[in-house]
Amino acid sequence: MQSVDTVIEARWVVPVRPRQCVLEHCAVAIDAGRIIDVLPIGAARARYRPTQRYALEHHALLPGLINAHAHSAMSLFRGVADDLPLSRWLAERIWPLERAIVCADFVFDGTRLAAVEMLRAGITCCNDMYFYPEQAAQALRSVGLRAVVGILALDFPSRYAADADDYLRQGLAARDALMTDSLVHFTLAPHSPYAASDATLARVATLAEELDLPVHMHVHETAHEVEQSMQQHGCRPLQRLEGLGLVSERLVAVHATQLLDAEIQLLAQRGASVVHCPASNLKLASGIAPVNKLLNAGVGVAIGTDGAASNNRLDVLGEARLAALLAKGTAPDASALPDWQGLESATFLGAKALGLEARIGSIEVGKEADLTAVDLSAVETQPCYDPISQVLHSAGRENVTHVWVAGQAALVERAIAASIGGSLADEVLRAAAPWHNQVRQWLREPTIYAAK
Ligand SMILES: [Zn+2]
Repeated sequence: MQSVDTVIEARWVVPVRPRQCVLEHCAVAIDAGRIIDVLPIGAARARYRPTQRYALEHHALLPGLINAHAHSAMSLFRGVADDLPLSRWLAERIWPLERAIVCADFVFDGTRLAAVEMLRAGITCCNDMYFYPEQAAQALRSVGLRAVVGILALDFPSRYAADADDYLRQGLAARDALMTDSLVHFTLAPHSPYAASDATLARVATLAEELDLPVHMHVHETAHEVEQSMQQHGCRPLQRLEGLGLVSERLVAVHATQLLDAEIQLLAQRGASVVHCPASNLKLASGIAPVNKLLNAGVGVAIGTDGAASNNRLDVLGEARLAALLAKGTAPDASALPDWQGLESATFLGAKALGLEARIGSIEVGKEADLTAVDLSAVETQPCYDPISQVLHSAGRENVTHVWVAGQAALVERAIAASIGGSLADEVLRAAAPWHNQVRQWLREPTIYAAK
């Protein structure tokens, strides 16, 4: 008998690699944070003596869900700007609110609120883009999640930074400060082509190569963005990025609702990834990414929630289902984005977009044990002929029961693990309350508040 930290026995294991595979009555053995074996339950009991054993008799065990695009701290802005198109959403509500209220403490408290929501939705890894990335990373880690945070590079000032140099300097300092935590990863995050000058984007391209980092940005989110680029630069944003050397396997292009066939080919040739955020795109009426065409061309499509101010849920499982339905409806082809591919987008392809596919994204020996269990025993998820179909189309985030990140239990029977803080949900709600009051005050008197 070999001593190991953890054995998780599950009715079904859906490893995502190989594709479309479902293992029945299997166990995953974990030691020192890594998956060391995947084998039938009987064999696992004969071979391993775990410190902790979980028997998940009615559950599907999946790779942890990956939220490939979020502005986590904006959970404190949930519902403040409904029913507006992106341009007005940004100009009339979000940017003025951010100038008035967002600070380091706001980001920490807002990101923790989001992190608890994400944890309970089975998300193990969040790719975040927001001001104060150091506080965002600390908040995600304090809830047990794997954090990917963006080193910003923008050409407009905020309370966080004065100019592109300042954003980069502070982001790189955050990276230095957090480098020792192996569950914190970084991207370069120039926000969008319209928020950064050619000189800033060229610097980002150079830094991405030097530091071996992905480049996380909104690209072709709306038709307006493309038109504006035609007027200001005489070319479409992707063309501009291509000219600056940014269309590569490092590019994590978020939204991409406006793509020509030639642009889909370009993304495929360069090995770039797209992050599909279907609820945010629908809610802001930005458009619908051509996911079916992208996948058929060989572009990796990951799933993101975007921020809670434009979604308003941080629910990757829900997004994956919506992505599948939209792909089928817009193709129109019922075979578009099949169940297994929806799950692949929410896991492995998210890891690939972030350059983490050797470490996470599937249940394979040697990978870090980022895992999510979904209970399929409820009335709403029975009978179960195909657990992948059930997870994607019948289950919801409320059916997520367990989450492990690098082998550490973070959610157990829907309760936050004691090692992280059993009363954390109450704690984050208490911390959110004063910010809620500030936002409400701003909504009543935005000009007075902004002048302070
Ligand atoms: Zn976004």
